[in-house]
Amino acid sequence: MAKLTVGWFTFTCCEDSTIIFTELLNQHWQDWTKKIDFKYAKTLRRSVDLGPMDVAFVEGAISSVKQSQKLKQIRSLAKILVAIGSCAITGQPSAQRNEFNQTQKAEIKTILERFDYADKVQKLSDLVAVDHSVPGCPMDEQKFLSLINKLIHAPN
Ligand code: SF4
Repeated sequence: MAKLTVGWFTFTCCEDSTIIFTELLNQHWQDWTKKIDFKYAKTLRRSVDLGPMDVAFVEGAISSVKQSQKLKQIRSLAKILVAIGSCAITGQPSAQRNEFNQTQKAEIKTILERFDYADKVQKLSDLVAVDHSVPGCPMDEQKFLSLINKLIHAPN
């Protein structure tokens, strides 16, 4: 059986689901390494140019044009895209600044300009089609395990 080619990508967030994912490797690495090629995962290996993949796990909300372009590129290369955690699924809590009043917006204006951030923070499904979601803040470990095991055993 061909290995599942997987990418793990992070946008605007606190990266707690990445920490959970790497912790899970302590128990599952021996098994997963036979079945999964973690081709694009900055926490595990040096970056390589993006190419086609079976599954893209995407954590975080989208807060700039550059991020939205990267997300669209990932979507075009992945057969299946999975939103990981609340920020990716709903935008929150990363999108709290969308609700700021005028005074608060004025206070963060220079930061938005300096880092080329967009006016609004968006959830993944505002920009691309999402096939599966793993809810939680951070992601629910059992739901992630159940989904990845299903994807490993699905024909690809
Ligand atoms: S969903 Fe929660 S844990 Fe995950 S990145 Fe957002 S704030 Fe952090």
